[in-house]
Amino acid sequence: MSAGDRGVQAFIGIGANLGDPEAQVRESFARLAKGLPKTRLTGRSRMFRNPPMGPQDQPDYVNAVARLYTRLEPLELLVELQGIECACGRERDGTRWGPRRLDLDLLLFGDQSLDLPGLQVPHAGIADRDFVILPLLELAPGLQIPGMGPLELLAQRFEGANLIPVAEPEASVTAAEGHG
Ligand code: ATP
Ligand code: CA
Ligand code: CA
Repeated sequence: MSAGDRGVQAFIGIGANLGDPEAQVRESFARLAKGLPKTRLTGRSRMFRNPPMGPQDQPDYVNAVARLYTRLEPLELLVELQGIECACGRERDGTRWGPRRLDLDLLLFGDQSLDLPGLQVPHAGIADRDFVILPLLELAPGLQIPGMGPLELLAQRFEGANLIPVAEPEASVTAAEGHG
């Protein structure tokens, strides 16, 4: 693929807290890399362990962020992400922020702002979540968040926050990075 037809840069927020959360996050990286049409995985953050949002009577989460280039439309990409959630055993019981084997949120889709039935981009929670903003900063310093300004500015409110990285060999992080 040449630079011109590589498509739009998108970022995916990944979370898991049932089953083997680390394994599901790794599996989702693999599926984002190999399982999606018209799409290339070009980067991934480290994995971090975080307390749950909402109901506290559930296990901690493992979270990460992935960077893609895609020629899918935003809603097509969302459907693909939901397919990966399903393939990894996600069950929806209707509890808001309830426990799950895998959650894939479409955080950003190029410079687009979308408010469609079933799809808001940038993702509605993006600015309030350290487990999204800090891994994004790791992956894409200098990024502009549509409607919200520089990522660095959003990160200021989390200054001093320390996410707890999941121990993993450094090679497994860099191996997932493509060429642009
Ligand atoms: P949150 O969205 O606050 O992180 P959640 O991930 O637990 O909460 P889900 O139950 O996974 O929420 O999704 C609820 C709905 O959110 C989905 O049916 C989906 O259509 C909608 N949605 C809207 N915008 C997005 C987005 N950017 N990425 C993923 N889902 C989205
Ligand atoms: Ca989510
Ligand atoms: Ca979700």
